[in-house]
Amino acid sequence: MTTMTEYKTCPQCGFERAVFDMDCDTGESTLDCRSCGHSDVVERVVTDGKITWRHLVAPGFGAMWHGHIDGGSWQANYLHDEDGVIEAERWLRNEMAAGKIAPAHI
Ligand SMILES: [Zn+2]
Repeated sequence: MTTMTEYKTCPQCGFERAVFDMDCDTGESTLDCRSCGHSDVVERVVTDGKITWRHLVAPGFGAMWHGHIDGGSWQANYLHDEDGVIEAERWLRNEMAAGKIAPAHI
């Protein structure tokens, strides 16, 4: 499997470092914006030997980056609707109050 990763401009917010990954063997790809959370996925679907493509677009409502206070890798949560934002805020406040995580910068 050969994959390619590069930055592209987010079609929703214009952020120039949205992460684009493509599987060169299948043509499947993902574009995730680290700024607004916009997500664009192209999947290959094989049914009875016939190939079709599924294109899924999820609007961005924000991207939440955080890391554990003890170090380790950063984690991203891409938010796609108002309920997701409200739930992420609740979770973030609880985790920060417990001293488990620290905010990150992209
Ligand atoms: Zn964006």
